[in-house]
Amino acid sequence: TYVVTEACIRCKYMDCVEVCPVDCFYEGENMLVIHPDECIDCGVCEPECPAEAIIPDSDGQAEKWLQLNRDYSTQW
Ligand code: SF4
Repeated sequence: TYVVTEACIRCKYMDCVEVCPVDCFYEGENMLVIHPDECIDCGVCEPECPAEAIIPDSDGQAEKWLQLNRDYSTQW
């Protein structure tokens, strides 16, 4: 799965949401998040993010954001 990180906070671009083929972006508090079980790992959103906030979970930085992405995307 891909993970949205801190750099997304208060970002107003929604380009990632537009390109995601499975619509797995959700609105969290102040930021967008990716539902980790719905993301199909296609990677198309990553280069679309002007803030470079989207990273793969294989990235060492992703670990601390993964739970937040899960929490925000499943709270509805
Ligand atoms: Fe959506 Fe693909 Fe990005 Fe996952 S990697 S959030 S499926 S665009």
